[in-house]
Amino acid sequence: MKNPAKPTFTQSYRNLPDAFYRDAAPEPVANPRWIARNARLADALNLDAGWFASEAALQCFAGNAPLPGAAPLAMAYSGHQFGGWNPLLGDGRAHLIGDVLGRDGALYDLHLKGSGPTPFSRNGDGRAALGPMLREYIVSEAMAGLGIASTRSLAVVATGEQVYRRAREAGGIVTRVARSHVRVGTFQYAGVHLGPEAVKALADHEIARNFPALDAGPRYQMFLREVIARQAHLIAQWMSVGFIHGVMNTDNMQVAGETIDFGPCAFMDGFHPQKVFSSIDEFGRYAWDQQAPIAAWNLTRLAECLLPLFSEDRDEAVQRAQAELARFMPLFEQQFEHRMGAKLGFADQRADDGATIAALFTCMMHGKADFTRCFTCLTQIAGGQNTVAFEKLFEGEQAKDFLQIWRRREARPDAALMAQSNPIRIARNHQVEAAIAAAYNGDLKPFDRLVQALQHPFDPDPAFEDLELPPRPEEEVQATFCGT
Ligand code: AMP
Ligand code: MG
Repeated sequence: MKNPAKPTFTQSYRNLPDAFYRDAAPEPVANPRWIARNARLADALNLDAGWFASEAALQCFAGNAPLPGAAPLAMAYSGHQFGGWNPLLGDGRAHLIGDVLGRDGALYDLHLKGSGPTPFSRNGDGRAALGPMLREYIVSEAMAGLGIASTRSLAVVATGEQVYRRAREAGGIVTRVARSHVRVGTFQYAGVHLGPEAVKALADHEIARNFPALDAGPRYQMFLREVIARQAHLIAQWMSVGFIHGVMNTDNMQVAGETIDFGPCAFMDGFHPQKVFSSIDEFGRYAWDQQAPIAAWNLTRLAECLLPLFSEDRDEAVQRAQAELARFMPLFEQQFEHRMGAKLGFADQRADDGATIAALFTCMMHGKADFTRCFTCLTQIAGGQNTVAFEKLFEGEQAKDFLQIWRRREARPDAALMAQSNPIRIARNHQVEAAIAAAYNGDLKPFDRLVQALQHPFDPDPAFEDLELPPRPEEEVQATFCGT
């Protein structure tokens, strides 16, 4: 057998001033074993297939060996967590192990999570349980299947060691792939601890890497403009598939606009706009319908960091920031209505669509209709089927109101557009939990099958019909825990 080509990696984060990171190597684990390997993603990253299947690669993704050419580090960041300021967070159980040029010409970070303590660990053990790492793998790949910008998962390994959470559990490490791991919290760290020159260096780093085509205008203001546009787009996409991130802290919002840090996130089953999934989100701060205002709040924190780059005159800098921030909500609403309009088969966008969509959501809420099934049944109605299946989704008579409002707005819904816009399969929480439970018992088939089914969520497939179904009452998962 010929030797697999040994790929080379870089570590471009080291071009930033030293204070942005600490040298830190993953702590080796006793007995690593592959749980999941994403060969398609490896190919997109131009990784040699032979190498990716090798023992050498397993050792790299277990943290037992560095990536060839790259020295690992832990990133420093700050953050507002549930609104409370934390001046120093940083990678406490994660390591940036290098970056690599993808086939598309973009640079991608490779990052281990669960890879051992770092200088930022405080009292944490630096480890992760296998379950939440599998959850991150499933949900991030589901996001990619839906066409929503997201960090990806390249691999999960079991460490062969135990971690202590609510009970003893198998430990796991996920290899995350991202356009960048720079968060709003990274800018906050620079702003609070390092000063304007460092903020500028970070912005330049991020612009060079992920914002090659800014609008003409003052450079850093146009940077903020584009960050805002990407977030508006992203949150509209999340909401249009019933996704709730769960922990939209500023350290969990990536500046380049990818969904990041899948903790207690979920896709909704029965619709309620105030649904939360994190068991510690008592006040509904990160509920489904709060995600746009929370994103705006986080973006305001980012803008505060950038003020010194906008103008030496504080008032002028604030004015410029406000002008950009004011763009967020209208942009979000426009994007959300555009997405919802496509899901409902509207041929055009109209001024009063916001009110129409709100009325439809009210029907869904009172009827406790399943979010995903509601729209896929509607696609079928637009394709000529009767309304029986649709009406069964509602607890009361709200289906009739829904259909009346819908038909009044659009007499000839575009069924083809709806089929492209309404996923048949989402990563339902009860299925994710079942796949994880089976994996803990040594059976990886449900996990592999779920990941495969979610790669093409818009395509009907009789082999995966069971995965379309909402949970039975006894299968319902009410909240996922932050104890990752
Ligand atoms: P997260 O909830 O993963 O977004 O993490 C929030 C912060 O807590 C980050 O600074 C993490 O690095 C840190 N953290 C979470 N779990 C652990 C752990 N087991 N050991 C050390 N640090 C942790
Ligand atoms: Mg985080």
